[in-house]
Amino acid sequence: MTPSTLRRLRSTSPRRSSPRATHPRSKARSFVFRFDQLAEVKRSARTWDEVKALLGGKGANLAEMTRLGLPVPPGFTVTTEACRAFLRSGNWPRGLWEEEVAALRELEGRTGKRFGDASNPLLVSCRSGAKFSMPGMMDTVLNIGLNGETVKGLARLTGDARFAWDAYRRLIQMYGTVVMGIRDEPFEQLLAEWRARRGVENDADLRAEDLRTIAGRFREIVREQAGREFPDDPLEQLRLATEAVFRSWQGKRAQDYRKAAGIPDDLGTAVNIVVMVFGNMGKGSATGVATTRNVSTGENELEGDYLLNAQGEDVVAGIRATQPIAQLAEEMPEAFAELKRIARLLEKHYREVQDIEFTVERGVLWMLQTRDAKRTARAAVQIAVDLVKEKLITREEAVLRVTPEHVDFFLHPQFDPESMRAARADRRHLASGLNVSPGAAVGQLAFDADTAERWAKEKKAVVMIRAETKPDDVHGMLAARGILTSRGGRTSHAALVARQFGKPAVVGVMALEVDPEKREAILKRSSTVLREGDWVSIDGTTGEVFLGQVETMQPSLEDPALIELLGWADRFRRLGVWANADYPRDAERARGLGAEGIGLCRTEHMFFETERLPLVQTLILSRSEEERGEVLRQLLPLQRADFEGLFRAMDGQPVTIRLIDPPLHEFLPAHDALLREVTELETRQELGSETTPSEAATLELKRRMLETVERLREMNPMLGLRGVRLGIHMPGLVRMQVRAIFEAACKVAEAGVRVFPKIMIPLVTHGNELRWEQKALEEEARAVMAERKRKIRYRFGTMIEIPRAALTADEIASLAQFFSFGTNDLTQTTFGISRDDAETSFLAEYLTAGILPENPFDHLDEAGVGRLMQMAVDLGRKTRPGLDIGICGEHGGDPKSIAFCHRLNLDYVSCSPFRVPVARLAAAHAALRERQAKPAGRR
Ligand code: PEP
Ligand code: MG
Repeated sequence: MTPSTLRRLRSTSPRRSSPRATHPRSKARSFVFRFDQLAEVKRSARTWDEVKALLGGKGANLAEMTRLGLPVPPGFTVTTEACRAFLRSGNWPRGLWEEEVAALRELEGRTGKRFGDASNPLLVSCRSGAKFSMPGMMDTVLNIGLNGETVKGLARLTGDARFAWDAYRRLIQMYGTVVMGIRDEPFEQLLAEWRARRGVENDADLRAEDLRTIAGRFREIVREQAGREFPDDPLEQLRLATEAVFRSWQGKRAQDYRKAAGIPDDLGTAVNIVVMVFGNMGKGSATGVATTRNVSTGENELEGDYLLNAQGEDVVAGIRATQPIAQLAEEMPEAFAELKRIARLLEKHYREVQDIEFTVERGVLWMLQTRDAKRTARAAVQIAVDLVKEKLITREEAVLRVTPEHVDFFLHPQFDPESMRAARADRRHLASGLNVSPGAAVGQLAFDADTAERWAKEKKAVVMIRAETKPDDVHGMLAARGILTSRGGRTSHAALVARQFGKPAVVGVMALEVDPEKREAILKRSSTVLREGDWVSIDGTTGEVFLGQVETMQPSLEDPALIELLGWADRFRRLGVWANADYPRDAERARGLGAEGIGLCRTEHMFFETERLPLVQTLILSRSEEERGEVLRQLLPLQRADFEGLFRAMDGQPVTIRLIDPPLHEFLPAHDALLREVTELETRQELGSETTPSEAATLELKRRMLETVERLREMNPMLGLRGVRLGIHMPGLVRMQVRAIFEAACKVAEAGVRVFPKIMIPLVTHGNELRWEQKALEEEARAVMAERKRKIRYRFGTMIEIPRAALTADEIASLAQFFSFGTNDLTQTTFGISRDDAETSFLAEYLTAGILPENPFDHLDEAGVGRLMQMAVDLGRKTRPGLDIGICGEHGGDPKSIAFCHRLNLDYVSCSPFRVPVARLAAAHAALRERQAKPAGRR
């Protein structure tokens, strides 16, 4: 457009919507809406969500910006409904093309330009835009309307032949690749040849005549590769470009992206037809992308990149080195000031950080897009907290805007500073680039996405290296531990995608020259060569790249914004968050991360320690009560010390100690190994070789062990002599454990520690088991308290891990003072599958075939296991109102399962210490979502 037309359009206020303007079809909703027809759209799409579903995010926001009076070039949106209809039948739905042409004629009327008119040509772009943003995953074609005639008109009108021929060659290249399916390489190769011939670095430095010749050659490439001519008719260009954008919804890269981002496949994309504005009309023009805050750190400053004299795709593709946005203040102060003002306004309007695209055409600013900005976990937390302080959002909204994955990210590995120092000292620091997605990644270099994906499937750690990534590379990016590119900026494709999926990424490492053909990357200044399969370590937090493997470590969760946000989350949640911890140091860590109790201490873990295992083995091998008694006496002080440590660490909070659970053979050597040893020793003896007294003793011991192992051997040990059964079978052992718990409790209580032990009996199936076991154990507890003359507050309870326990929970609750769902066992016993074997065998097949929608060991199976849990809660609380109920299976740390536990009205979830912050947030989400779902009056 010429500047005068532009100014006229910018100054006209959005016109009133006229429903007739776009060729209304009788009753059905129109397929096409102009940007200034938002009011019309809202008649059938009532919520903003529905507007976005119909117009796509980009279309909806362009219409909204138009409504706000911001400088948006005129245009219209072809709805997602039209796309779905097209994809269903493979044909244009009736009336769609007529509506599109009518809307185009409107644009002609508004701009005073005509499509295909060489004297004053109208040019448009055709841009995809689905409900949920899928950056770069679908197609866009710019400069539609140019042909051999109109290009001359454009040159004449703008007085800039170089610009006009450049726009034309771009159309042929984009149209050729996107619409006609030609590879990009022949076009890029020709451009590279011309750059070399003219001795210039950038396409922008090629001359008008060069570009004219290139455009001619591009047309030949189209003819050779596609077997047909590049279409000169602008209407045909528009029609086929619209179709191509519709189809790009079904493209592999879009499908891969949707799968990873959990976007449904049946939404379709909208198509936006927008009057072209040009950032490549000489030095007074520019194009760029920006976010209203820094989306890596959350800092409140406009952040982004731009290029002078360039078109949109140049910035995002990362082919030319971009300028930081602050520089625009010097080069184009007026446009920059307006951009800043609009950025603030948009942030206030949407109450969210925005990601914007803009173009400056001969000094005049145009807004081409706004959308909620993707951000790193760190930025997500910082921004949520800041927006509350700026009174733009509530604390509830802030908590809901941070995802469990964001919190989890704070727990991602970082490089160990020592190992990093060593790497530097060894001169393994190779280069630096832009730190666009934080976290440390160590892996072997893969030079393309397919290799990265294949290696990851083979369980290799992979870092994918590319010159720059394209949307086709997404499957490799998802499979890799980290991403490394030699080109591109903060808003490049690689950066956006990596950030969204929390992959560490370093981009724009200019010192590297990547050659995907030779599968090597050369470090320009030192000529070090990196080959496929070489190990590298990349730091997405600092942008550094190291050769070899740098050790990683967990970061601290000391981020003040995170602490504040989790503090808010704590006030909203109803579920308590406890931790599974066996040792005092784990308990301390869990408490530091916000745990409010220990929900599971697996005491057998203490028995596996090196100095204790022989004692436990002797206990199992003992033949007489005296022998057993002697070993238990030795074990008692050790257990007591364990519990003292736990009680001290959790001063004032409940500590749930589970009595020994696993089958006894787990404490003994494997049968086959033992048999081999015994046979060897026996053979040596038989062959008459000298046997030392110690060898004779060993043989005796091993024989006894073998006998015991054979006696204890079970076909299905997970369903065998374990849990409460073991306690009943070997009463001395659990009595010793209870004695240790109470002796420890009395001792620390004397020292002023507030103790609250909860003794948990595992794997109960029948009320009588508890009757038997609990009575004996309570006697022991009372005995210790009498000896020590101290009263300890305590509870005896049970795990619900077997369907029968859930089904008879009313009876069980008459004895147990608390329940804890052991959903690891409850899942295996409900499904009748082995938790140790299934996941590596048929369960994987089930998941691939979709026979099971998800792994029941990852997310609680609500329909089956969940139903049993519901029953147990209802029956248990019928007998004992207010019965304390928690969960300590692995599901206690899974956000989806946590939401289910909230709905079941459990008292707490218990998970591993490092999941505690995630669980605190997930529990708050569950409570807030429940509040949102209830009608206002009933809250
Ligand atoms: C369970 O079964 O869910 C549980 C917590 O116990 P374990 O995993 O130790 O069997
Ligand atoms: Mg269990």
